[in-house]
Amino acid sequence: MTTGFKRNAAQSPARHPLSENQTENKNMEQSSIEASKNGKQWCLNDFEIGKPLGRGKFGKVYLAREKKSKYIVALKVLTKSQLLKAGVEHQLRREIEIQCHLRNRNILRMYGYFYDNKRIYLILEYSTGGELYRKLTSKGRFNEKNSAKYICDMAQALSYCHAKHIIHRDIKPENLLIGSRGEIKIADFGWSVHAPTSRRNTLCGTLDYLPPEMVEGREHDEMVDVWSLGVLMYEFLVGSPPFEAEGHSATYRRISRVDLKFPKGLSEDSKDLIRKLLQKDPRKRLSLDSVPNHPWVLRNLRS
Ligand code: AMP
Repeated sequence: MTTGFKRNAAQSPARHPLSENQTENKNMEQSSIEASKNGKQWCLNDFEIGKPLGRGKFGKVYLAREKKSKYIVALKVLTKSQLLKAGVEHQLRREIEIQCHLRNRNILRMYGYFYDNKRIYLILEYSTGGELYRKLTSKGRFNEKNSAKYICDMAQALSYCHAKHIIHRDIKPENLLIGSRGEIKIADFGWSVHAPTSRRNTLCGTLDYLPPEMVEGREHDEMVDVWSLGVLMYEFLVGSPPFEAEGHSATYRRISRVDLKFPKGLSEDSKDLIRKLLQKDPRKRLSLDSVPNHPWVLRNLRS
């Protein structure tokens, strides 16, 4: 399947998404892949397939180029039999419905999808910087300036989702990618949910990032993402999540008690923001819209 091709800057508009003076280009570029669709269904023959970018639970992700527009994308190829075996068709359908409708510079675009007998193909924005998790593990932790930029951008992207009544519910470094200008991209909406009216009480997400209300099986709402943002900020600055423990029940206990300990050396204003995000009572958590104005963010974005 992999044929490999050289990317040509002149032919690959997706190479510089969102560069400063290219808003107009970006609009043209964005419309180019959508315009080339022209109302028809996408199929595999519309794309040249390049190198594999990574492997996920249900298939592989390839670099690909839409033949007509020359637009570079990431093509996620999922195997139907594996999806059925794991019983996650509903989850995938929801992921597609939600991600296709989101337009935010810190949320990975999904341009569309198609399928054949054996596979489902997701046409995604190509994130040139790769996985944030890999960057974090190689560096150990991020400095305050980078962390503040990421946290501020995440808060704004999550606020955008919440305004559309979408809760992400699975914020963690593994679900974040880095764009061509170093910007953070929320990439995985597999656990996200439309929350038009009712509160949900499904237990999902990754252990270390679960809020007390989910650990305790209580109802939850969009404030779960605020908690996860606090866990993420702690992990960015410290290098490991705050409630890490041996075994699930020990982790649950630490989360439920909000057993928050800071290593030496963290600034007072960073600890203040983490504490304000990691409030046990969801209603007492800082609002996402207040995050960009917190002194820690302002101090680090200024410098
Ligand atoms: P996933 O199945 O979403 O977990 O993706 C598997 C791996 O493919 C990820 O860990 C990334 O390394 C890579 N990948 C997925 N989507 C993209 C993308 N849009 N741009 C670049 N790399 C990606």
